[in-house]
Amino acid sequence: MVSRVIPVDTFDLVIFGGTGDLARRKILPALYRRFCSGQMEGDSRIIGAARSDHTAEEFQQLIAEGIKEFDPKAYDAEKVAEFTSHLDYVHVDALGETGWKALAEKVSGDRVRAFYFSVAPSLFGALAERLHTHGMADSNTRIVVEKPFGHDLASARALNQDLAAHFDESQVYRIDHYLGKETVQNLMAVRFGNMLFEPLWNAQYVDHIQITVAETVGVGGRGEYYDKSGAMRDMVQNHLMQLLCLIAMEPPARFEPDAVRDEKLKVIRALEAVPADDIVRGQYSAAGKQPNYLDDVGDPTSRTESFIAMKVKISNWRWAGTPLYLRTGKKLKARTSEIAVVFKQTPHSIFGPESGSHRNILTIRLQPNEGMDLGVTIKEPGPGGMRLVDVPLDMTFAEALGPDAEDVPDAYERLIMDVIRGNQTLFMRGDEVEAAWAWADPIIDGWEQRGDRPMPYDPGSTGPEESMMLMHKDGRRWREIKT
Ligand code: NAD
Repeated sequence: MVSRVIPVDTFDLVIFGGTGDLARRKILPALYRRFCSGQMEGDSRIIGAARSDHTAEEFQQLIAEGIKEFDPKAYDAEKVAEFTSHLDYVHVDALGETGWKALAEKVSGDRVRAFYFSVAPSLFGALAERLHTHGMADSNTRIVVEKPFGHDLASARALNQDLAAHFDESQVYRIDHYLGKETVQNLMAVRFGNMLFEPLWNAQYVDHIQITVAETVGVGGRGEYYDKSGAMRDMVQNHLMQLLCLIAMEPPARFEPDAVRDEKLKVIRALEAVPADDIVRGQYSAAGKQPNYLDDVGDPTSRTESFIAMKVKISNWRWAGTPLYLRTGKKLKARTSEIAVVFKQTPHSIFGPESGSHRNILTIRLQPNEGMDLGVTIKEPGPGGMRLVDVPLDMTFAEALGPDAEDVPDAYERLIMDVIRGNQTLFMRGDEVEAAWAWADPIIDGWEQRGDRPMPYDPGSTGPEESMMLMHKDGRRWREIKT
């Protein structure tokens, strides 16, 4: 297989917060990789803009060190020097006047102009307004914003309004890096590029769907931020919701931004309210020993969840009767993200009860080892009658497509290049984000009003016992969390 690199137009990309953690760890290493693959041609420029005062050379040095630290495999001193020669820096204050004139002078010209808001959301409105005031908000302009996009419906609406005051929705790119993952896009290819799956993709044939995003890390240094958020806001409302949408949506007429996003929105609007009995919240706690969530966030009274499992129903013709079980948490047994579509059993077994119970399961793995497999039932080889066994039809990309498939661009690489190309398909639209909050808010309000406490669970486990019960009461069980 020969990988294809499609050149993009010459661009200016301004990264507000260019000296920050996200820019150094993810955004600039991703741009460096695209540069190495030949996608950043001509005199495209990347301009760091942040509150600290640096020369362009100091910024270049900072970013070169960042690439070495965060992407050592791709680091090549000569290439990095070539790449950083495209970098410039402006000292800008989002809340004041410093640097704006200088920035406007640097980005003038007829080329794609993207502004990446890699700063706290509280600065989004001020940045949008100053871009407008200083004549940088024209039709060539695109803006990219990061999560968290709001804390609830009201704050998400306010952010949307701040951006809409100066930019059209077609200029706003809300990043959810889960959508940039190769497997997530492959999910759409498998669903809509094959005849095999779509006729079975409904409540008649699918028993249930499981979405698991398990992390082994705790809250780390983000304790203060995380404690105000919790697993529901930090993971379910955005990342798991996006996965759910792609799994459950109707086929869009075309693979085009608004066609795809319209279908996703319909799924979110069809989600039922989730009763308290269908939700399990947990907090990792090692019975007084470390690690302990309450110690990690420095608040012994915190009721924020570091784990959540829930049963979700979609009220439409396709999915009525087929629940989706979502589960995500920190300090779990293994780092793994997967979607499993569990099909129903055959209506009748011609092989008799001794052949056991078997189901087809389509598993879409986001990490580790991005790929898919389809569990099918076959005869166990050898004599001794008709014994059945489940085997995976492995669709791990690296094996099927050769070494090039291992070198697929990271989510940020793809998404940033989509911004430059002007393709919004893999970005969340404002109404999608608001609809997701409109679903999440009453659920969160519910446990806050009841004063529910999260259940403790052992670090390194699969979450609280009660999460197992959520499945058992429906006669189902979670798939194993394993690497
Ligand atoms: P950070 O604290 O490391 O960096 C913040 C950056 O913003 C710095 O460059 C700082 O100079 C700049 N800044 C702050 N106030 C400014 C002002 N008034 N004017 C101009 N620049 C100003 O933060 P980060 O971890 O890089 O995160 C940036 C944003 O991205 C946050 O909203 C965060 O929630 C989000 N995010 C971060 C990550 C991550 O992995 N770090 C992941 C997802 C989302």
